[in-house]
Amino acid sequence: MKVGLRIDVDTFRGTRLGVPNICRLLPKYSIKASFFFSVGPDNMGRNLWRLLRPTFLWKMLRTKASSLYGWDILLKGTFWPGPLIGEKLGGIIHATADAGHEIGLHAWDHYTWQAHIDNMDSKAIYGSLNKGVTLLTQILGKPPDCSAVPGWKSNALVLREKSKFPFRYNSDCRGESIFRPIVDGRELTQPQIPVTLPTYDEVVGYEGVTDENYNEYLLSLVKPNELNVLTIHAEVEGIACRGMFSRFLEMAHDKGVSFVPLGVLLREYHPTEPAAIIKKEISGREGWVSCQAQTA
Ligand SMILES: [Zn+2]
Repeated sequence: MKVGLRIDVDTFRGTRLGVPNICRLLPKYSIKASFFFSVGPDNMGRNLWRLLRPTFLWKMLRTKASSLYGWDILLKGTFWPGPLIGEKLGGIIHATADAGHEIGLHAWDHYTWQAHIDNMDSKAIYGSLNKGVTLLTQILGKPPDCSAVPGWKSNALVLREKSKFPFRYNSDCRGESIFRPIVDGRELTQPQIPVTLPTYDEVVGYEGVTDENYNEYLLSLVKPNELNVLTIHAEVEGIACRGMFSRFLEMAHDKGVSFVPLGVLLREYHPTEPAAIIKKEISGREGWVSCQAQTA
């Protein structure tokens, strides 16, 4: 059984500590993966304001967000401008590429994208993508060859603007199979590789899933002969939950589950049916996320 492994890096702290931790762990099982970096300002601390919303407060308590992310993350960008992650930590991003992992763009400004995408026009979206691609290109010496929007927040404008960049594929939604997205009746050429499995913060604390049985639960969702794509976070599995993630890799190895960069899945599960992308609410996540529409 094969699982596409995607590592989202949202913050300065996740890049500085979580990425090197994960990069030390993966070679134990000869795993190569896809890392999606946020390279612009770290304003994730502005999420603090969302504490005012009861659902978010509940989620913070349920997942012990302060211990998951660290108070420095929660405060970043709240009282002072956030640092440019790619400028300060480009060496870590470059070393990740040198280790043979696939490198993609996650965001220029993760917070702003997640909070304001509904109000961003084509120009703002292109500008944000372009700043991220430009800085990543400087760091890597070549453009990133894939991308994944923050928080699975994509729309028709985003998909159209992305097609102006040389991405081999995008991973902007949840779904079941690799597909070419239909936007305004037209099929775009950049394939979507959707995430099929839930993230840690979406399931722990719900329906009897705990830190103790999470690994087993997650492995039970991996389906043979079907597309499996898992997202982990440098801030979570790379820092606060790294012991648990290390055991997860060991358990997966024992069960014959292997992990690959998402690009590798393109060869085996190449897109057959086109599909639309729709907004949906999913359990454990606040607000809407982009989902592959069911092809009837
Ligand atoms: Zn993210």
